Amino acid sequence: MNRSSLCLSLTGATVAENLKEIERYDCYCDLYELRADYLEPLSISALSSFPAQVKKPVIITVRRAADGGHFKGSEAERCGILRRCLASGYRYIDLEEDFQDQKIEQAAEAGGVTVIRSFHDFSGVPADLGRIIRNIKRNSGEVIKAAVMVQNTQELLKLVELALELKAQDEWGNRIILGMGPMGFPTKVLSTILGSSITYSYAPGRQAAPGHVDPQTLVDLYRFPLVNQNTRIFGVIGNPVIHSKSPWLHNRGFSLRAMDDAVYIPFQVDNLEAFFQLAEVLDIRGVSVTIPHKQGVIPFLSSRDEGVEAAGACNTIVWRDGLRRGYNTDISGFMAPLKESMGGAIPAGFRAAVIGAGGAARAVVYALRKEGVEVLILNRTVERAQDLAVAFGCSYGSLEEQERIADFSDLIVQTTSVGMNRECPEYDPIPGYSFSGGEIVYDIIYIPRLTPLLKRAMDSGCRVINGWEMLIAQAGIQFRLFTGQDLLREANSGIADRY
Ligand code: NAP
Repeated sequence: MNRSSLCLSLTGATVAENLKEIERYDCYCDLYELRADYLEPLSISALSSFPAQVKKPVIITVRRAADGGHFKGSEAERCGILRRCLASGYRYIDLEEDFQDQKIEQAAEAGGVTVIRSFHDFSGVPADLGRIIRNIKRNSGEVIKAAVMVQNTQELLKLVELALELKAQDEWGNRIILGMGPMGFPTKVLSTILGSSITYSYAPGRQAAPGHVDPQTLVDLYRFPLVNQNTRIFGVIGNPVIHSKSPWLHNRGFSLRAMDDAVYIPFQVDNLEAFFQLAEVLDIRGVSVTIPHKQGVIPFLSSRDEGVEAAGACNTIVWRDGLRRGYNTDISGFMAPLKESMGGAIPAGFRAAVIGAGGAARAVVYALRKEGVEVLILNRTVERAQDLAVAFGCSYGSLEEQERIADFSDLIVQTTSVGMNRECPEYDPIPGYSFSGGEIVYDIIYIPRLTPLLKRAMDSGCRVINGWEMLIAQAGIQFRLFTGQDLLREANSGIADRY
């Protein structure tokens, strides 16, 4: 079966630096692209001996600034470098669509060096990209490469449709079609499915740009070598979403269950209609839904579970039997660690204070009310607390009224978004409340794991639950909805070292 090759773009300033990178990533890569435009002038002379030091095929590229490269010399100098490389063992030479030196092309052909005819657009996916790709080939043996910045979901859809159309018309190995930027990220993982013969990666920290991925992450996290026509595609949609933890959990879950036919990818989505079309085109089987789309996806669903109806938010969609089924796993995901910490059941007369009244608070309040818990909702914007309280039969107030927590203090749940990602590391939403030590304190924020509120509660002797426990629990329910199997606990291990 045809498979896309994984290429590491080498952008070190010296040959020695590049060789070090090869040593580090060689077990993941099929070939290398030596970006000579990043080399310092003294290293240029070492270009001819480079391929002999590498056991895998090498592409030579000297990219001009106009095409996103760093080469600052004249075109004559650039051609001189390329010419010298031709007889040095490079397997491919990257020449742009407007490259003018025919002698180099002829010499490449005569010497068995494959020309990668490249087209770049950093402003977006051109409307006539199909025409461009069909017309830029000058000689039959060339491989066409189009690398375009994907600016929105509509453009990703267009790019994927074009790639699949070309794949259906043409034989394998003639094209590389890649979307740049975070919105284009799925094209890097799905390159085999999209008919691209090569996908490109970069070492971490080197020319790091949103949407770039290193070879180890592509292989170990995104299961690149396993992705093929039969792969079931899952993912997470959000905006932004590239740093979501969900790919780690689900892809590890697939690996632990030996499900070699599944992959889970972040899709940064700014247009839900375009995304749902993309889902049909790629035959996506299931997605997690995160901020800001949990409400927006609801009109696109064919069916909704009770939690979606009640919480007015959907965080999981499964495509089955031609239907888009929506679920809310935040509700059970919130409740599972709470019940576990209480020995399996919530006692009668239990009272809880919920801080915050956003989307997550809605799921939390619904889950608590379903268990018969009396709830007080406190929020910065009191009208939102009131709306939620009216919907679920709770008490409410403003965040200023912290003295009221004492009457609802069996459980305190923090659901505001402040403090997430350490943006506001000192934030404690209820500094005026003194813990007695008898409360259960649950902060649904998962980064950092120990928020100032949880630390203060722990120091006072309270039982605490952090947002990771909820995240893992809700991901476990999603995994079961996606695959019919349980997410093994080991899927969670190691994640703390990464985030
Ligand atoms: P949301 O709908 O945007 O709601 C944000 C809440 O935070 C609102 O109550 C808002 O109050 C409050 N807030 C924001 N800035 C504030 C400030 N400076 N001072 C006081 N209150 C402030 O967000 P969401 O979807 O509910 O998500 C909330 C958090 O839960 C996020 O950090 C999310 O990552 C986390 N979450 C975790 C899990 C998990 O599995 N652990 C699951 C879902 C969500 P106003 O109404 O006054 O604006």
